[in-house]
Amino acid sequence: MKAIRVHTIGGPEVLIYEEIAKPEPGNGEARVKIEASGVNYIDTYQRTGLYKVPLPFILGQEAAGVVDAVGAGVTEVKPGDRVAYASALGAYAEYAIVPAWRLVPVPEGVDARQAAAAMLQGMTAHYLACDTFPLKPGDTALVHAAAGGVGLLLVQIAKMRGARVIGTVSTEEKAALARQVGADDVILYTETDFEAAVKQLTDGKGVDVVYDSVGKTTFDQSLNCLRRRGYMVLFGASSGPVPPLDPQVLNAKGSLFLTRPLLAHYTADRAEVLARAHDVFEWVRAGKLHIRIDRTFPLAQAADAHRALQSRATKGKILLLP
Ligand code: NDP
Repeated sequence: MKAIRVHTIGGPEVLIYEEIAKPEPGNGEARVKIEASGVNYIDTYQRTGLYKVPLPFILGQEAAGVVDAVGAGVTEVKPGDRVAYASALGAYAEYAIVPAWRLVPVPEGVDARQAAAAMLQGMTAHYLACDTFPLKPGDTALVHAAAGGVGLLLVQIAKMRGARVIGTVSTEEKAALARQVGADDVILYTETDFEAAVKQLTDGKGVDVVYDSVGKTTFDQSLNCLRRRGYMVLFGASSGPVPPLDPQVLNAKGSLFLTRPLLAHYTADRAEVLARAHDVFEWVRAGKLHIRIDRTFPLAQAADAHRALQSRATKGKILLLP
Protein backbone atom coordinates (compact mmCIF):
# COMPACT_ATOMS: atom_id res chain seq x y z
CA MET A 1 0.00 0.00 0.00
CA LYS A 2 0.99 3.65 -0.30
CA ALA A 3 1.72 5.65 2.85
CA ILE A 4 3.40 8.84 4.00
CA ARG A 5 6.24 7.97 6.36
CA VAL A 6 8.58 10.09 8.44
CA HIS A 7 12.12 8.67 8.65
CA THR A 8 13.73 11.77 10.10
CA ILE A 9 12.12 14.77 11.80
CA GLY A 10 12.11 18.13 10.03
CA GLY A 11 10.17 20.32 7.60
CA PRO A 12 7.38 19.23 5.23
CA GLU A 13 10.03 17.72 2.92
CA VAL A 14 10.53 14.79 5.36
CA LEU A 15 7.08 13.46 4.44
CA ILE A 16 7.97 10.58 2.13
CA TYR A 17 5.33 8.93 -0.06
CA GLU A 18 6.29 5.27 -0.40
CA GLU A 19 5.14 1.71 -0.93
CA ILE A 20 5.04 -0.45 2.20
CA ALA A 21 3.48 -3.78 3.16
CA LYS A 22 -0.23 -3.76 3.95
CA PRO A 23 -0.46 -4.25 7.74
CA GLU A 24 -2.44 -7.05 9.44
CA PRO A 25 -4.71 -6.36 12.44
CA GLY A 26 -3.75 -7.91 15.78
CA ASN A 27 -5.84 -8.65 18.86
CA GLY A 28 -8.51 -6.01 19.38
CA GLU A 29 -7.57 -4.19 16.17
CA ALA A 30 -9.31 -3.55 12.86
CA ARG A 31 -7.92 -2.61 9.46
CA VAL A 32 -9.62 0.35 7.82
CA LYS A 33 -9.50 1.01 4.06
CA ILE A 34 -9.18 4.76 4.15
CA GLU A 35 -11.31 7.08 2.00
CA ALA A 36 -10.17 10.38 3.53
CA SER A 37 -7.56 11.30 6.15
CA GLY A 38 -7.62 14.48 8.21
CA VAL A 39 -4.65 16.82 8.49
CA ASN A 40 -4.27 18.30 11.98
CA TYR A 41 -1.83 20.62 13.63
CA ILE A 42 -0.59 17.80 15.86
CA ASP A 43 0.76 16.16 12.69
CA THR A 44 3.17 19.09 12.31
CA TYR A 45 4.28 18.77 15.97
CA GLN A 46 5.07 15.08 15.38
CA ARG A 47 6.80 15.80 12.07
CA THR A 48 9.08 18.43 13.65
CA GLY A 49 9.76 16.44 16.85
CA LEU A 50 7.94 18.83 19.20
CA TYR A 51 5.94 15.70 20.10
CA LYS A 52 8.26 12.67 20.07
CA VAL A 53 7.31 9.55 18.07
CA PRO A 54 9.71 6.62 17.49
CA LEU A 55 11.03 6.67 13.89
CA PRO A 56 10.10 5.69 11.25
CA PHE A 57 6.34 6.18 11.54
CA ILE A 58 3.28 6.75 9.37
CA LEU A 59 1.86 10.17 10.19
CA GLY A 60 -1.83 11.04 10.67
CA GLN A 61 -4.32 10.79 13.56
CA GLU A 62 -7.69 10.75 11.87
CA ALA A 63 -9.57 9.11 8.99
CA ALA A 64 -12.81 7.68 7.69
CA GLY A 65 -13.33 4.61 5.54
CA VAL A 66 -14.53 1.02 5.61
CA VAL A 67 -13.43 -1.84 7.87
CA ASP A 68 -11.83 -4.50 5.65
CA ALA A 69 -10.41 -6.93 8.23
CA VAL A 70 -10.56 -7.46 12.00
CA GLY A 71 -8.19 -9.19 14.44
CA ALA A 72 -9.03 -11.68 17.18
CA GLY A 73 -11.47 -10.59 19.87
CA VAL A 74 -12.98 -7.67 17.98
CA THR A 75 -16.66 -7.19 18.81
CA GLU A 76 -17.11 -3.47 18.13
CA VAL A 77 -17.02 -3.55 14.30
CA LYS A 78 -17.11 -5.99 11.37
CA PRO A 79 -15.84 -5.92 7.77
CA GLY A 80 -17.96 -3.63 5.61
CA ASP A 81 -18.80 -1.15 8.40
CA ARG A 82 -18.40 2.54 7.57
CA VAL A 83 -16.28 4.03 10.33
CA ALA A 84 -14.28 7.07 11.40
CA TYR A 85 -11.72 7.60 14.13
CA ALA A 86 -9.27 9.98 15.76
CA SER A 87 -6.21 9.73 18.02
CA ALA A 88 -4.62 6.62 16.43
CA LEU A 89 -1.38 7.13 14.54
CA GLY A 90 -0.99 5.97 10.91
CA ALA A 91 -3.80 7.65 8.96
CA TYR A 92 -1.74 9.09 6.08
CA ALA A 93 -2.05 5.78 4.19
CA GLU A 94 -4.34 3.64 2.09
CA TYR A 95 -4.99 1.33 5.07
CA ALA A 96 -4.57 1.82 8.82
CA ILE A 97 -4.60 -0.47 11.82
CA VAL A 98 -6.77 1.01 14.56
CA PRO A 99 -7.76 -0.21 18.04
CA ALA A 100 -11.36 -1.35 17.38
CA TRP A 101 -12.70 0.51 20.43
CA ARG A 102 -11.75 3.83 18.80
CA LEU A 103 -13.86 3.20 15.67
CA VAL A 104 -17.15 5.05 15.47
CA PRO A 105 -19.94 4.06 13.06
CA VAL A 106 -20.61 6.80 10.50
CA PRO A 107 -24.34 7.48 10.31
CA GLU A 108 -26.36 7.64 7.09
CA GLY A 109 -26.33 11.13 5.67
CA VAL A 110 -22.70 11.83 6.63
CA ASP A 111 -20.19 11.04 3.89
CA ALA A 112 -16.60 9.86 4.39
CA ARG A 113 -15.07 13.29 3.82
CA GLN A 114 -17.37 14.97 6.32
CA ALA A 115 -16.78 12.14 8.80
CA ALA A 116 -12.99 12.40 8.52
CA ALA A 117 -13.23 16.16 8.89
CA ALA A 118 -15.54 16.01 11.92
CA MET A 119 -13.73 13.58 14.20
CA LEU A 120 -10.61 15.13 15.67
CA GLN A 121 -11.41 18.83 15.47
CA GLY A 122 -15.13 18.21 16.17
CA MET A 123 -14.58 16.12 19.30
CA THR A 124 -11.97 18.65 20.43
CA ALA A 125 -14.37 21.57 20.09
CA HIS A 126 -16.98 19.41 21.85
CA TYR A 127 -14.89 18.64 24.94
CA LEU A 128 -13.56 22.20 25.20
CA ALA A 129 -17.02 23.81 25.16
CA CYS A 130 -18.95 21.07 26.98
CA ASP A 131 -16.48 19.70 29.56
CA THR A 132 -13.21 21.63 30.06
CA PHE A 133 -15.17 24.82 30.63
CA PRO A 134 -18.85 23.91 30.20
CA LEU A 135 -20.23 27.05 28.59
CA LYS A 136 -23.68 28.26 29.58
CA PRO A 137 -25.90 31.17 28.56
CA GLY A 138 -24.44 34.42 29.85
CA ASP A 139 -20.80 33.28 29.55
CA THR A 140 -18.38 35.10 27.27
CA ALA A 141 -15.62 33.10 25.55
CA LEU A 142 -12.57 34.34 23.67
CA VAL A 143 -11.67 31.92 20.86
CA HIS A 144 -8.32 32.44 19.16
CA ALA A 145 -7.83 31.36 15.52
CA ALA A 146 -11.61 31.37 15.21
CA ALA A 147 -11.56 30.57 11.47
CA GLY A 148 -9.26 27.55 11.84
CA GLY A 149 -10.24 23.89 11.82
CA VAL A 150 -11.04 23.68 15.54
CA GLY A 151 -11.93 27.38 15.71
CA LEU A 152 -14.89 27.33 13.32
CA LEU A 153 -16.38 24.34 15.15
CA LEU A 154 -15.72 25.75 18.62
CA VAL A 155 -17.46 29.02 17.74
CA GLN A 156 -20.53 27.09 16.56
CA ILE A 157 -20.71 24.81 19.61
CA ALA A 158 -20.16 27.74 21.97
CA LYS A 159 -23.06 29.57 20.32
CA MET A 160 -25.25 26.44 20.56
CA ARG A 161 -24.59 26.49 24.32
CA GLY A 162 -25.73 30.08 24.53
CA ALA A 163 -22.40 31.82 25.10
CA ARG A 164 -21.25 35.12 23.66
CA VAL A 165 -18.19 34.53 21.45
CA ILE A 166 -15.36 36.90 20.71
CA GLY A 167 -13.07 35.49 18.02
CA THR A 168 -9.59 36.45 16.84
CA VAL A 169 -8.32 35.92 13.28
CA SER A 170 -5.53 37.23 11.03
CA THR A 171 -7.46 38.45 7.96
CA GLU A 172 -10.73 40.10 6.94
CA GLU A 173 -11.65 37.00 4.96
CA LYS A 174 -11.27 34.85 8.06
CA ALA A 175 -13.21 37.43 10.09
CA ALA A 176 -16.14 37.14 7.69
CA LEU A 177 -16.11 33.35 8.06
CA ALA A 178 -16.00 33.50 11.85
CA ARG A 179 -18.96 35.89 11.85
CA GLN A 180 -20.79 33.65 9.39
CA VAL A 181 -20.65 30.72 11.85
CA GLY A 182 -21.88 32.89 14.71
CA ALA A 183 -19.03 34.83 16.35
CA ASP A 184 -20.53 37.95 17.97
CA ASP A 185 -17.35 40.03 17.71
CA VAL A 186 -14.17 39.39 15.75
CA ILE A 187 -10.78 40.99 16.36
CA LEU A 188 -7.97 41.06 13.80
CA TYR A 189 -5.21 40.22 16.28
CA THR A 190 -2.52 40.83 13.69
CA GLU A 191 -3.57 44.50 13.44
CA THR A 192 -5.31 45.30 16.71
CA ASP A 193 -4.23 44.82 20.34
CA PHE A 194 -6.67 42.03 21.21
CA GLU A 195 -6.28 42.54 24.97
CA ALA A 196 -7.43 46.16 24.72
CA ALA A 197 -10.24 45.17 22.34
CA VAL A 198 -11.50 42.44 24.69
CA LYS A 199 -11.44 44.82 27.66
CA GLN A 200 -13.46 47.30 25.64
CA LEU A 201 -15.95 44.68 24.44
CA THR A 202 -16.51 43.44 28.01
CA ASP A 203 -16.64 46.87 29.71
CA GLY A 204 -13.35 46.15 31.46
CA LYS A 205 -14.65 42.96 33.09
CA GLY A 206 -12.86 40.36 30.98
CA VAL A 207 -14.10 37.05 29.58
CA ASP A 208 -15.05 33.92 31.50
CA VAL A 209 -12.81 31.65 29.44
CA VAL A 210 -10.09 31.91 26.83
CA TYR A 211 -9.65 29.00 24.44
CA ASP A 212 -6.07 29.54 23.28
CA SER A 213 -4.58 27.22 20.65
CA VAL A 214 -2.08 29.78 19.34
CA GLY A 215 0.20 29.61 22.39
CA LYS A 216 3.46 31.51 22.34
CA THR A 217 2.28 34.76 20.74
CA THR A 218 -1.07 35.03 22.57
CA PHE A 219 -0.71 33.35 25.98
CA ASP A 220 0.44 36.26 28.17
CA GLN A 221 -2.14 38.68 26.83
CA SER A 222 -4.82 36.00 26.98
CA LEU A 223 -4.33 35.80 30.76
CA ASN A 224 -4.98 39.56 30.92
CA CYS A 225 -8.29 39.11 29.08
CA LEU A 226 -9.80 36.96 31.85
CA ARG A 227 -12.23 38.01 34.55
CA ARG A 228 -11.37 37.30 38.17
CA ARG A 229 -11.26 33.50 38.66
CA GLY A 230 -11.53 33.04 34.89
CA TYR A 231 -10.40 29.93 32.99
CA MET A 232 -7.39 29.80 30.72
CA VAL A 233 -7.70 26.79 28.42
CA LEU A 234 -4.40 26.45 26.57
CA PHE A 235 -4.91 23.66 24.06
CA GLY A 236 -2.34 24.19 21.31
CA ALA A 237 0.87 25.79 20.16
CA SER A 238 0.27 26.90 16.57
CA SER A 239 2.72 29.82 17.00
CA GLY A 240 5.08 27.82 19.21
CA PRO A 241 5.08 26.43 22.77
CA VAL A 242 4.46 28.66 25.81
CA PRO A 243 7.56 28.99 28.04
CA PRO A 244 7.48 27.72 31.66
CA LEU A 245 5.19 29.73 33.95
CA ASP A 246 5.46 30.88 37.58
CA PRO A 247 2.17 29.80 39.26
CA GLN A 248 2.22 33.05 41.23
CA VAL A 249 1.17 34.76 37.98
CA LEU A 250 -2.24 33.08 38.28
CA ASN A 251 -2.68 34.57 41.74
CA ALA A 252 -1.57 38.07 40.73
CA LYS A 253 -3.91 38.16 37.71
CA GLY A 254 -7.04 37.26 39.69
CA SER A 255 -6.92 33.67 41.05
CA LEU A 256 -7.07 32.27 37.54
CA PHE A 257 -7.44 28.62 36.54
CA LEU A 258 -5.08 27.17 33.94
CA THR A 259 -5.48 23.85 32.14
CA ARG A 260 -3.61 22.27 29.22
CA PRO A 261 -6.03 19.59 27.98
CA LEU A 262 -5.58 16.84 25.36
CA LEU A 263 -8.27 15.14 23.26
CA ALA A 264 -7.06 11.62 24.17
CA HIS A 265 -7.85 12.32 27.84
CA TYR A 266 -11.39 13.37 26.89
CA THR A 267 -11.94 10.30 24.68
CA ALA A 268 -10.42 7.87 27.13
CA ASP A 269 -12.72 4.89 26.64
CA ARG A 270 -15.24 3.58 24.12
CA ALA A 271 -18.27 5.04 25.89
CA GLU A 272 -16.73 8.51 25.85
CA VAL A 273 -15.64 8.29 22.20
CA LEU A 274 -19.10 7.11 21.11
CA ALA A 275 -20.93 9.76 23.13
CA ARG A 276 -18.80 12.64 21.86
CA ALA A 277 -18.77 11.49 18.22
CA HIS A 278 -22.53 10.86 18.39
CA ASP A 279 -23.21 14.47 19.40
CA VAL A 280 -20.94 15.80 16.67
CA PHE A 281 -22.46 13.62 13.93
CA GLU A 282 -26.02 14.40 15.03
CA TRP A 283 -25.29 18.13 14.90
CA VAL A 284 -23.80 17.69 11.42
CA ARG A 285 -26.81 15.68 10.24
CA ALA A 286 -29.23 18.19 11.71
CA GLY A 287 -27.45 21.06 9.96
CA LYS A 288 -26.52 22.67 13.30
CA LEU A 289 -22.77 22.16 12.88
CA HIS A 290 -21.28 23.13 9.55
CA ILE A 291 -18.05 21.34 8.63
CA ARG A 292 -16.00 23.51 6.31
CA ILE A 293 -13.66 21.44 4.15
CA ASP A 294 -11.22 24.10 3.00
CA ARG A 295 -9.29 21.93 0.57
CA THR A 296 -8.25 18.40 -0.31
CA PHE A 297 -4.86 17.13 -1.45
CA PRO A 298 -3.86 13.77 -2.94
CA LEU A 299 -2.13 11.67 -0.25
CA ALA A 300 1.14 11.97 -2.19
CA GLN A 301 1.04 15.76 -1.66
CA ALA A 302 0.86 15.68 2.14
CA ALA A 303 3.88 18.01 2.31
CA ASP A 304 1.93 20.72 0.46
CA ALA A 305 -0.97 20.26 2.89
CA HIS A 306 1.43 20.89 5.79
CA ARG A 307 2.84 23.98 4.09
CA ALA A 308 -0.66 25.37 3.65
CA LEU A 309 -1.64 24.69 7.27
CA GLN A 310 1.49 26.20 8.76
CA SER A 311 1.42 29.30 6.56
CA ARG A 312 -2.00 30.27 8.06
CA ALA A 313 -3.48 29.92 4.58
CA THR A 314 -6.32 27.54 5.48
CA LYS A 315 -9.83 28.19 6.78
CA GLY A 316 -11.26 24.96 8.11
CA LYS A 317 -10.39 21.36 7.37
CA ILE A 318 -7.68 19.92 5.13
CA LEU A 319 -8.11 16.35 3.91
CA LEU A 320 -5.76 13.90 2.17
CA LEU A 321 -7.29 11.53 -0.35
CA PRO A 322 -5.49 8.22 -1.01
P1 NDP B 1 -5.91 25.59 12.46
O1 NDP B 1 -6.75 25.34 11.27
O2 NDP B 1 -6.55 26.31 13.61
O3 NDP B 1 -4.59 26.30 12.01
C1 NDP B 1 -3.82 27.04 12.90
C2 NDP B 1 -4.25 28.51 12.95
O4 NDP B 1 -3.56 29.13 14.01
C3 NDP B 1 -3.87 29.29 11.71
O5 NDP B 1 -4.80 29.19 10.66
C4 NDP B 1 -3.78 30.70 12.25
O6 NDP B 1 -5.05 31.35 12.23
C5 NDP B 1 -3.40 30.50 13.72
N1 NDP B 1 -2.03 30.94 13.98
C6 NDP B 1 -1.68 31.98 14.78
N2 NDP B 1 -0.36 32.15 14.78
C7 NDP B 1 0.16 31.23 13.95
C8 NDP B 1 1.49 30.95 13.52
N3 NDP B 1 2.53 31.64 13.96
N4 NDP B 1 1.65 29.92 12.65
C9 NDP B 1 0.62 29.21 12.21
N5 NDP B 1 -0.65 29.45 12.58
C10 NDP B 1 -0.89 30.45 13.44
O7 NDP B 1 -5.35 24.19 12.99
P2 NDP B 1 -6.13 23.00 13.74
O8 NDP B 1 -7.58 23.30 13.78
O9 NDP B 1 -5.66 21.71 13.22
O10 NDP B 1 -5.56 23.10 15.22
C11 NDP B 1 -5.73 24.29 15.97
C12 NDP B 1 -4.96 24.18 17.25
O11 NDP B 1 -5.64 23.32 18.14
C13 NDP B 1 -3.54 23.67 17.12
O12 NDP B 1 -2.71 24.44 17.98
C14 NDP B 1 -3.65 22.26 17.61
O13 NDP B 1 -2.46 21.77 18.15
C15 NDP B 1 -4.73 22.39 18.66
N6 NDP B 1 -5.43 21.15 18.96
C16 NDP B 1 -5.37 20.68 20.23
C17 NDP B 1 -6.04 19.56 20.60
C18 NDP B 1 -6.02 19.13 22.01
O14 NDP B 1 -6.75 18.21 22.38
N7 NDP B 1 -5.23 19.74 22.86
C19 NDP B 1 -6.78 18.77 19.60
C20 NDP B 1 -6.84 19.39 18.30
C21 NDP B 1 -6.16 20.53 18.00
P3 NDP B 1 -5.04 32.95 11.94
O15 NDP B 1 -4.47 33.10 10.56
O16 NDP B 1 -6.44 33.37 12.04
O17 NDP B 1 -4.14 33.55 13.00
